[in-house]
Parts: sequence; structure tokens; C-alpha cells
Amino acid sequence: GFVRPERDREVNVQVVLRCRPLSDEEQKQNVQKVISCNEQRKEVTVLQGILNRQADKSFSFDKVFGPKSQQRSIYDHAISPIVNDVLEGFNCTVFAYGQTGTGKTYTMEGGMKCKGPELPAEAGVIPRAVRHIFDTLEARKADYSMQVTFLELYNEEITDLLAPEDQSRSAEDNKQRKSSISLMEDGKGGAVIRGLQEEVVYSANEIYKLLEHGAAKRRSADTQLNKQSSRSHSVFSITIHVKEVAIGNEELIKCGRLNLVDLAGSENISRSGAREVRAREAGEVNKSLLTLGRVITALVEHSVHIPYRDSKLTRLLRESLGGKAKTCIIATISPSIHCLEESLSTLDYAFRAK
Ligand code: ADP
Ligand code: MG
Repeated sequence: GFVRPERDREVNVQVVLRCRPLSDEEQKQNVQKVISCNEQRKEVTVLQGILNRQADKSFSFDKVFGPKSQQRSIYDHAISPIVNDVLEGFNCTVFAYGQTGTGKTYTMEGGMKCKGPELPAEAGVIPRAVRHIFDTLEARKADYSMQVTFLELYNEEITDLLAPEDQSRSAEDNKQRKSSISLMEDGKGGAVIRGLQEEVVYSANEIYKLLEHGAAKRRSADTQLNKQSSRSHSVFSITIHVKEVAIGNEELIKCGRLNLVDLAGSENISRSGAREVRAREAGEVNKSLLTLGRVITALVEHSVHIPYRDSKLTRLLRESLGGKAKTCIIATISPSIHCLEESLSTLDYAFRAK
């Protein structure tokens, strides 16, 4: 039978912050830096005095990763314990949250060209989690099975990033197929996505190939739809069943799911009311991103009502948000003075989720 391990009713939301370095271009232009990271004290300071003579503002998080931090360090210190939990049968979700251009995709995907046993230094959370999972299961000589899905959510509509694009079909036809993907309630509080490709996988390399293909598909949508990725969420999910033989030869199956989510750019849901109204008029309000914020706030505040049902993203992640599930939010910011307002709003949002 299935087993779900017991755990106290605590809030399992962890918030970590990552600040990217200035780009070469920004360095050439001598762009002023207004973010200072103290990794030891787990504190980020916004040097806003430079701009408007206000006092500098500091925020503390569960972990802080400064501009020099390496992909590997983020994985080892913030994500690896979560993946160990998944292997013990918990559901877990990792989100990258922040303004467009601050490193969400770099953090989650990084380099996804990962052939052979050695991961490149720029490999992000997704390829590292995949490698970690296979290495652990193989070292344990475990009997397991694994499935992956990779989807994009844009305007509350799901696109399957693993489905083979059918070149012989017309654009209209492919669109029709897209809308045939639907989110259904499973009657047990969870959701199933009908029409989504669930790939059964046997090796890390097999997943890397799927990922490369899916990520390329997401990027190609960018050129067609004017940077679609800044307004879309991508969700990579890996479901693992591990068979364990307990004392008395009783067979137990531990089932855990890991969701790795690259969220839409947070600039579309700035907390400043005025901008929200303007965004709503332009039809740009990202329902899923807004609802996710409300769900996390409700979880952190132990509210009775958690508004999972208000968006597709929260409906499809429902079983992996709250309860015994662990959640990690990686908030990303730029050090540049030009991003000061957005950085403040990301820090505010992330701090509230703590
Ligand atoms: P987002 O997905 O948030 O819009 P990206 O991940 O595309 O942002 O990052 C924007 C640019 O900055 C990319 O060229 C990316 O390679 C680079 N970048 C982001 N974070 C880092 C980092 N920590 N170190 C080096 N380059 C980074
Ligand atoms: Mg991106």
C-alpha cells in the first residue's frame, strides 16, 4: 500500500534570496549597485539612500546567495534537503520568483546540456535534482519507477512542453490539441491533467534530453509571442515511486513528487495598487501569480481557507503546497540601481512569505 510519513502541522515554507551579478554590459556602463548581500547574516540590504536619501533597508531570509554564488552552492545548501524529502515520500515544490531578467530561468535550468556523469558548472536546480535523484536511488539499489511532465501555463492555458510538435498539422490544429489539455479534480482534493504527456523515464540522460527539447520549445514560443516566457510559468514535475521492504517482509511504496517552477516575471503583479489597476485594464493580470501569493500568505498565517481553487497553477500544485509538503521560494533580484523599485517589491513579497 501507499504510505505517507507523519509530520507535525508546521509551516514548511522556506524563502531564500539570490542576487545576480551585474552583466558585462552593465559593468561596461558602470551601472551603480544598490544591493548588498550578507550571506553569513542571511541579510540583504537595499542601499536606497543613494537614490532618495531614505535610510537603507534590510531584509532577512532563510538563506542569502550573493552575486558570486555558484549554481552548485544553491543546490547543495537550499534544494538538496528538499529532494531528500521527496525520496522519503513527501511532495515538494521549488519556485523561482522575481522580475524578468533577474535569473529565474538561469537558477532553475541554467545549462541543461548535461551529457555524461559530470554536470557543467552552470547547470541549474532542475538538472542537479535529476542527477541527485538517480544517484541516490542507484546507490541504494532501490526498486523504483519515475514519471516526468513539463508544462507551460500562459494566460491560464496549459501547453505540454513534452508533446511532440506535429509539423504536419496546421497551426489551428495544434491549437486545438493544446486546448484539449484540461485540469480535472480527482475527487481526493488533488488535480489530474488530462491530455498531458507523462513520460516514464529510466535514466538521467533520458530526462536531460526531454528537458532540452521542452526548454527549446518554450524559447521558440518567445519569438512568436513577444517574450511569452516573461508572462508564463513553467512547471517541471517528477514523480517517484520507491519500493521498500519493511520488517516482516511487508512491501511499502513511497510516492513523492517534486515540482520545479519557473514563475512569470513578478513585474506584472507589483504590489503597488495603481500599477495593478493599469495591468488589469491591459488584461495583464497574472491570475496564477497573484493567487500563488495569496495561497502562500494563507498557509503562513494558518488561515482556514486556502484559495487553491482560484487559479490553475495553485490547483495543479495543490497536493504539493501546504500540509506536509515542503515549499521553497527562491526570490531573485538584480543589483542594479535601475531595478531598485522592483527589487524592493520582490524583497517585500518574499519576506512576507517567510
Ligand atoms: P529571468 O528568467 O528571471 O527572466 P534569466 O535567467 O533569463 O532571467 O537571466 C537573465 C540573464 O542574466 C541571462 O543572460 C542569464 O544567463 C544571466 N544571469 C542570471 N543570473 C545569473 C547569475 N547568477 N550568474 C550569471 N549570469 C546570470
Ligand atoms: Mg526566464
